[in-house]
Amino acid sequence: MSLREPGYVDLHRRGVLAERARAAREILSCCVLCPRQCRKNRLAGEKGVCRTGARAVVSSFGPHFGEEDPLVGRGGSGTIFFANCNLLCLFCQNFEISHEGEGREASDAELAAVMLALQEEGCENINLVTPSHVVPQILAALDMAAARGLTLPVVYNSSGYDSVATLKLLDGVIDIYMPDFKFWDPAVAETACRAPDYPARAREAIKEMHRQAGNLVLDAGGLARRGLLVRHLALPENLAGTASVMDFLAREISEDTYVNVMAQYHPAGLAANLPGFHRPITREEYKAAVDAALAAGLTRLDRRKRVFAFEWH
Ligand code: SF4
Repeated sequence: MSLREPGYVDLHRRGVLAERARAAREILSCCVLCPRQCRKNRLAGEKGVCRTGARAVVSSFGPHFGEEDPLVGRGGSGTIFFANCNLLCLFCQNFEISHEGEGREASDAELAAVMLALQEEGCENINLVTPSHVVPQILAALDMAAARGLTLPVVYNSSGYDSVATLKLLDGVIDIYMPDFKFWDPAVAETACRAPDYPARAREAIKEMHRQAGNLVLDAGGLARRGLLVRHLALPENLAGTASVMDFLAREISEDTYVNVMAQYHPAGLAANLPGFHRPITREEYKAAVDAALAAGLTRLDRRKRVFAFEWH
């Protein structure tokens, strides 16, 4: 596969992308796109946990310079923030978007136009933020955008709560997978997201993403072209189970997995009501999380300057 041409361009030429979009749309009639398995007929207007029907809801889009350096380059990462979410963390820092659905419905053609506008603006990639519940709409839009000249790499920026069957529809389509791995303990996932199967589903999803895309590959300018980048938000009281997450990544994915251990947790959304989630992390907790990643043998940690929301002593 060429580093210059994203895989979806060739899949579009061969008609495979259109076929994948059709297959994905059919799933919406009894939606099992993600591990929630709601079995709602979204084509008929029924809504499941993600409260999204047949059309994607877009909250905002534009060049974003706060993402990891390999995604930003000179033009910024072309983010498209989808409203609603299939995981719904109660501490979400974008609560209005994920829980309250702030945004407006976009047809597949409008979504394609957004992708092309981001390319026109000089963005380095198309960064699909919270995409798991709108995979069919993304596939259809990408097919339209490819027909009109889209050639940017596509980033799948998810919570990690993805089903392997849906990810297989994205095989060869997505250039860069950027999942979170949020928690190791099912009890914490139940408390935070009402999803005790999150750790198991995230492990399966990240294995599939790595099988498809491999380790993160950068071009000569340091920009990501394809591969896997995992985000992990350090949490107070080690609620994220960081050492276990890092051991999994090093042993079952690759010691060369590119990992961003993030420091910016602060109580948002309904966090004040969640045991342990009511405060930011300390510098010591963040250092312990990074030490756990190094101790696991991971060699590619994102090294940006960390911003702490608040010091807690
Ligand atoms: S995508 Fe939405 S409706 Fe479909 S299974 Fe997931 S949460 Fe339920």
